[in-house]
Amino acid sequence: MRRKIVAGNWKMNGSRASLFDYCDALAPSLEKLPEDVQVVLAPPAVYFADLQSLLKSSSIQLSGQNVAATKAGAFTGELSADMLSDFDCRWCLVGHSERRSLFGETDEEVLAKVERLLEVGLVPILCVGETLAQRDEGMAVDVVRKQLSAVFDRIDVTRLDSLVVAYEPVWAIGTGKTATPEQAQEMHASIRAVASEKARGFGQELTILYGGSVNAGNARALFAQQDIDGGLVGGASLKAEEFSQICESMG
Ligand code: PEP
Repeated sequence: MRRKIVAGNWKMNGSRASLFDYCDALAPSLEKLPEDVQVVLAPPAVYFADLQSLLKSSSIQLSGQNVAATKAGAFTGELSADMLSDFDCRWCLVGHSERRSLFGETDEEVLAKVERLLEVGLVPILCVGETLAQRDEGMAVDVVRKQLSAVFDRIDVTRLDSLVVAYEPVWAIGTGKTATPEQAQEMHASIRAVASEKARGFGQELTILYGGSVNAGNARALFAQQDIDGGLVGGASLKAEEFSQICESMG
């Protein structure tokens, strides 16, 4: 089923001292949201426990920003899907462009990470998107298709019904340059078409978020597009008031 989701990706930002005020500002404003809008926060994992207790009376759910491609063992610095699940995380970003470009994450690793998450019942938020050079060369649709196919062609669609895709053009992430609603809609429709090639129902039901410099000023126009089911918000999710306004734009 297509779901309405606004997810905040804090990346490597935040501090323990700021958590209380953040939640205090965010949680009450979310009470006004329609019940079918799910708000998800992807903080650094060290804040999971504090956030679990601060958010326990709210409907906000927690997400990992990354997960290990392996189940357990001698992988210093990694966090497994089981560990995320232990902290009642229900979601996890996979293949964020910063993981792909800064940490060399390949499509094969993205596939393994999606597998690990599905094994323990977490929802993968599969991030895909093209660079500016790829868009300028007219390759955007092909690049995104390849990233999707790395997962869609290797995992049976019957196991992918919970998976969420986040279209995040790399040139729009953290740059202040947002895709226009029309550009975003065009790619979202293309993503839905790629999914429909696997199974018609899969494409129709797939939840597709837009990410890339979403803010309180542009969210409503983006979320109004036919194939945009919500947003993955980076920088603007660090400010509780602005993130609340973005969430309200989904209402
Ligand atoms: C992101 O990192 O997922 C993101 C969309 O960042 P920003 O909103 O800051 O562009």
